[in-house]
Amino acid sequence: MRKSFVSLFFAILPGIFFLVSAEEKHDEPKLPDPLVIIEAGDLPIILSAPHGGRRPVPGVVPRKGEDVPQFVARSDSWTDELTEKLADEIEKNTGKRPYVVIAKFHRKFIDANRPPERAYESKAAKETYDVYHKALADARAKVIARWGTGILLDIHGQAAEPDTIIRGTRNGRTITHLIEKFNRDSLISESSLFGHLSAQGLAVHPPVNSTRNEQTSYSGGYIVGTYGSVKGGALDAIQLELGRNLRRPTTNSETAKKLANAIENFSSQYLPSEKSADAINVGVYLDKGAGKSKINLLHALSTFDEVSIQHLTAKDIQSGKLDQLDVLIQPGGSGGGQGRHLGEDGREKIRHFLKNGGGYIGICAGAYLASADYSWSLNILDAKVIDRKHWARGNGTVKLTLSDSGKNLLQAPNNSLEIFYAQGPLLAPANNPNIPDYDPVATFQTEIAKKGAPKGVMIGTTAIAEGRFGEGRVICFSPHPELTKGLDHSIQFAIHKVSQGRSNKVK
Ligand SMILES: [Zn+2]
Repeated sequence: MRKSFVSLFFAILPGIFFLVSAEEKHDEPKLPDPLVIIEAGDLPIILSAPHGGRRPVPGVVPRKGEDVPQFVARSDSWTDELTEKLADEIEKNTGKRPYVVIAKFHRKFIDANRPPERAYESKAAKETYDVYHKALADARAKVIARWGTGILLDIHGQAAEPDTIIRGTRNGRTITHLIEKFNRDSLISESSLFGHLSAQGLAVHPPVNSTRNEQTSYSGGYIVGTYGSVKGGALDAIQLELGRNLRRPTTNSETAKKLANAIENFSSQYLPSEKSADAINVGVYLDKGAGKSKINLLHALSTFDEVSIQHLTAKDIQSGKLDQLDVLIQPGGSGGGQGRHLGEDGREKIRHFLKNGGGYIGICAGAYLASADYSWSLNILDAKVIDRKHWARGNGTVKLTLSDSGKNLLQAPNNSLEIFYAQGPLLAPANNPNIPDYDPVATFQTEIAKKGAPKGVMIGTTAIAEGRFGEGRVICFSPHPELTKGLDHSIQFAIHKVSQGRSNKVK
């Protein structure tokens, strides 16, 4: 009895508040609900949902679609609601919202995923169509201005496979920029958006790691074709076609959660984080010669505070982009591949950067590159490479002996450290009179000698070297802190150390 009274009381309560507020706002004209929901964001992510709306457009009759190829008038049910929930879930995960553009008008009046001549049939419809596309163009411009790059996700529904999400990138063309910057992994592998969707338990097409073409009817429409990187530019776009069972009001909250998790995981590897005013600006070379470990490196970097990351190509370096940076990181992969692709011009730009106080961190291949031993070397570290012939000596965990300055640099608790090694250089002083001597802050205490490499050569050679070049500082890791559990932070310490040459400079 008492319980029902209480719930009756609360049932009435909102009605009372409604009456009060309705009375207070008596004089204000009631604004019509917008036909396009537009939100500015704080992430380099744009969500678009052009086909989920149910509402008529004033003064517009349903389209007839005569002579219009690929004419469709039905809506992608609940994708508007799903996209709103997705924005909320992204905010729950990251504390920040994506940019959002959602159509509330029905597709039978306007198809926002078609070029103008196929999208509407009356002047009255054009205005609303233009609102949708101006919002996307604005969001794209703002994202590029603020982050340099970003991603647009165009959310749709398909009826062919009720439990599957089908990818539409025109077989990679709408993410040309992303693939050029990283590689095809960003489209198809476990680290791709669809790889992360699959990891969330969602069925995807094409399957993860498949090089198969996308399903022709869902391979990417006008929106991803227009705002993605098909014809260049730094914003990439992916169309997601969700099966009916993933969109229903009873299931779409769960789908939104999984989508948000996948987007977050994808973003941590492939999208830049916010630049802050006192951040150290770190450029990471991700072009030819950069190996798979760059993914782990980028992930480690994304967890550091006050470090702003820029992705670099050889062209970026050749065209002077280092001027805006404090530190350059050359990752694992192939030292020769990196050095040759940078060319004499790019290598000279790096030397110039260091002379003027820039910082350099080389990991494995990046340490070979820094040495003074090859035709493609940077000659910024006074080091030669021991037993060059057996450089491919295998992988495994090794022990390092740290000097006191090495202990300091890595903030290690004692003088011994275990780290993963993958055919990095065995460094020793080169005694080049033009380069200051380096400090061997760590040496190999144990060795890897597989694939015919002789035993006893590796032990005692330099594993981590700290040097100076001009006003700049250099730290080279032969082994891989970014591939060793618990050693990620040593890269952060190295960043702080090598950025010191830059701290008194006016940027
Ligand atoms: Zn659609």
